[in-house]
Order: sequence, then C-alpha cells, then structure tokens
Amino acid sequence: MGELLFMKPVFKEAVWGGKKLREDFGYEIPGDSTGECWGIGAHKNGDCQIAEGTYKGEHLSKLWTDHPELFGNEDGKYGKEFPLLIKIIDAKDDLSIQVHPDDAYAKVHENGSLGKTECWFILDCKENATLVVGHNAKTREELEQMIQEGKWKKFIREIPIKPGDFIQIDPGTVHAIKGGTLLLETQQSSDITYRVYDYDRLSNGKPRQLHIAQSIDVITVPAKSAENSVVHTEKKDDAIQQLIQCPYYTVYRIDVEHRVETWQDKPFVLMSVVKGEGTLNGTHLKKGDHLILPDGYGKVELQGRMQIIASTI
Ligand code: ZN
Repeated sequence: MGELLFMKPVFKEAVWGGKKLREDFGYEIPGDSTGECWGIGAHKNGDCQIAEGTYKGEHLSKLWTDHPELFGNEDGKYGKEFPLLIKIIDAKDDLSIQVHPDDAYAKVHENGSLGKTECWFILDCKENATLVVGHNAKTREELEQMIQEGKWKKFIREIPIKPGDFIQIDPGTVHAIKGGTLLLETQQSSDITYRVYDYDRLSNGKPRQLHIAQSIDVITVPAKSAENSVVHTEKKDDAIQQLIQCPYYTVYRIDVEHRVETWQDKPFVLMSVVKGEGTLNGTHLKKGDHLILPDGYGKVELQGRMQIIASTI
C-alpha cells in the first residue's frame, strides 16, 4: 500500500466565473469570478502540487517523470505527460460555444498536441437548466450554412439537465456550459478548443476570437441524438457506478452511505470528493479533496457519508 497523494488545486479566473468554489466548496479562491478549480492536473497551464506527505510541494508533472512507479508507468506506456485533468467548473454566466478536435486532427493542425475528449458530472444547477450539447444541422452543407450565416438559434441544441446527470463530450461535439451550473469535468489533459460562437459578447471592447474554419472541419454531422447524450444517474447507497468507459478514461460515481470496500488494482486512480466527508483506510476525506491512489495501492475501505467522482485510464 503506497501513500495517498493529496493535491493542491490551481484556480482560474474567468469572465463567466463566480463565487461558488468558495461558497459551496470552501476553497480560498483568488476573486469573485473564479471559473475553474483544477483539482488534479499536470498541464503546463495549471500544474498541481502535492499538498502533504513525502512529496509535499512537488508538481504532479515532475512526479510523473521522476517517479513513474507511482503511476505504473515505468515503461512509459501511459505517455510522457500525465494524461488526465480534473476540474470543478463554476459557470455564473454562459460559456462560449466550443468544439474540440480529436487526436488525429490536433496532431496535424495543432503542432502534435492531443485532441480532447471530456465529460461532465452535474453537481448543481438551476431548475429547468440546460446545456448546449450537439447541434441541429442534418448535413455538412447545412452546418456550414448555419454557421456562416449566423443562424445560431436554429443551430444550437440545448438539452435539459439536473444534478446527477452525466454527459460525455466526444471530439466534434458542439458544447457549452450555461450559467448557474456547477460541474465536475474529467478530461484528456489538453487545452485545444475551437470557439464556434460567443453570443456576440465583447471582452475589453472586442469580440473574442472565433475559430470558424477549424470548427467546421471537426464538428460531427449529424450530432449524436439528444437522448443518447445525457445519462441520468441516481444515488445508490454504498455503491460504485461506472459512468463511462472510453479509450481515454473510465469514470465512476461512488456514493458512500456507511461503508464501501473496493480494490485499487489500476495503474492509478483519481478521486474528488464532491459531497460530505468520511475516511479512506482511516485517512480523513472531505468535500473538495482531490487525491491520487498510486499503483499497487490495494484494498480501499471508504466510510462515512460522501460522494466521490473517481477516474482512471
Ligand atoms: Zn470543452
């Protein structure tokens, strides 16, 4: 059994961000418009540090390189860079409408970068809330026409959501988080985003840059059906529910009501506590904690009352 790696999150201000990361999660955030908590990540734009223990103060990127045995990566099969990024996102206002390329497109057009697949677990939202997932164009010609002519009302597909909903955003999926939504995002560690539309908003007097040509290149037509885009999940006492398994990650929802026992036999497992508190093999866990269970960790006993979103590769 190795040592749990507790993370020190990195916070990002954003024009659309709010105060819930402080008010709801108790984090010390840099201001009143904080959009993102990068809970577990080693991306160059937000490289988390280990919060305590043997590796206290070390950046996750360095740990990945210097101690591959912690991640079952001695032979480098999981890549040169830590592959996942976990964020909690507080959208006070609507985010711009975006799409991500896949690995193949990003490799050619973005200097060898990775593409991006991501997924969302809805923690909180307003009543009758929606998200933008997919679009209404039936053919690529119609897609081009709608985008070029700015027929946004027709183009954008909004889907109703409630807490506990899970949404997988494959590359090529048009998507946007709407104001009032708090969610946990599990994603490939990449920052390649194409902005399709920004509601004609101005930022410092100017519209933000759009990436129309790239967006038209990568958007999937037609979009996955609305029914297949959102999975409703419910609390099941003392249960581990798999939310998705895709080539980049597997994500689980864990509801601890009394006691859950499992076995960490993966190269590494990421955990974010999103509700309540309890213990993991006797170590205290509380809402807002983000941690990594290293390779070979073995038996895991969770006790208390909490909800955890966990992931692995
Ligand atoms: Zn995205």
